[in-house]
Amino acid sequence: VAAIHPIDLDAPKLGVETPQDFTWNRLVMADACVACGRCEEQCPAFAAGQPLDPKFVIRAVAMAQAADHVDDRHYAGRRWPGLEGRVGEGGAARPLVADGGLIPPAALWACTTCRACVEACPMMIEHVDAIIDLRRFQTLELGAVPGKAPAALAELAASDNIHGRAAARRMDAFVDLDLPLLREVKSTDLLLWLGDGAFDPRGQCAIRAFVQVARHAGLELAVLGEEELDTGDLARRLGDEAQFQRLAEANIATLARYRFRRIVTTDPHVLNSLRNDYPAMGGHYEVVHHTAVLLELALAGRLQFQPSDGQGAFTYHDPCYLGRWNGEFEAPRRLLDLLGEGRVEMARHGKTARCCGGGGGAPLTDIPGPRRIPDMRMADAKATGADTVVVA
Ligand code: SF4
Ligand code: SF4
Repeated sequence: VAAIHPIDLDAPKLGVETPQDFTWNRLVMADACVACGRCEEQCPAFAAGQPLDPKFVIRAVAMAQAADHVDDRHYAGRRWPGLEGRVGEGGAARPLVADGGLIPPAALWACTTCRACVEACPMMIEHVDAIIDLRRFQTLELGAVPGKAPAALAELAASDNIHGRAAARRMDAFVDLDLPLLREVKSTDLLLWLGDGAFDPRGQCAIRAFVQVARHAGLELAVLGEEELDTGDLARRLGDEAQFQRLAEANIATLARYRFRRIVTTDPHVLNSLRNDYPAMGGHYEVVHHTAVLLELALAGRLQFQPSDGQGAFTYHDPCYLGRWNGEFEAPRRLLDLLGEGRVEMARHGKTARCCGGGGGAPLTDIPGPRRIPDMRMADAKATGADTVVVA
């Protein structure tokens, strides 16, 4: 479990431009790299042929802080396809990220923040934190965010969600459910955080199904309705710390007006943001995934499962932000087992699950490569022979 640290938005420089902008412990961290290559073995962007090699990002920080002249032509590591060894200017006060520089901007923006590199690293190096710090400078100081990400950030600034929808529209798909609003009831056992699933047809189905089952089991639920803003998860991962902090402060102020025991959500990114990003902003909540709540109910005998009828074997994809980031591997699997059909695992599952390509704003920055991460993940699923792929 890990959190991304906030920065002081009044600082003279926002984010990291040069090696000397990193804190001393990050520089020591880069020096600790033993070039084993485990991070690049696990990196989905590297496997897709995108211009990102997490080993080289860490290596570049270590080399640049140590010397004015950097030459890695004889560096004993694989690098991304088509790129030769680099000879260039280093130095603790020179920019790290530049076209043709030690770290090309596309390398930063190809990262899905899946954390497979961090999990694999024997030296406990935090690649994602370094990449986010470098993105913060690109976004906040240079405004150099590629692809469709600037449009999503602009929508977020204008409407408090990345789709540009009015706040009240979040409830559109649920009007017939008569979900109590916290604004009216003031307190509840479970606060259901709808997230972006409320704007997506399949997400809406999952939320509606959860509400139905939770009510069947007698749980008390309420929602924020139009008071719910985006958590700022995407903004933070795209380096827009200013928008993240604005949204986190607004949501925390809203939550302070009400009483609830736990927050439940179907969305792993919401779960991670509220559970891990909000405490440093002053928001301390117990946040659970809906599969954990369903398993609690099943174990307490408050839900009985009727085995599914001839659907064949399931394979389950671990979302990075539920599994690696938050350690929840068990609940979805145990629920599938209660359904009684066969469960088969992909070769990469649990802590080493391959990312689906959807995190860190990567679908918006959309850095090209010869392969696509979602296609690789679907090939992983297909190789199991399972009939059904289950997501969180
Ligand atoms: S977080 Fe994932 S995509 Fe980013 S560098 Fe690490 S392994 Fe690659
Ligand atoms: S896994 Fe860690 S030690 Fe090994 S190459 Fe990557 S950053 Fe260096």
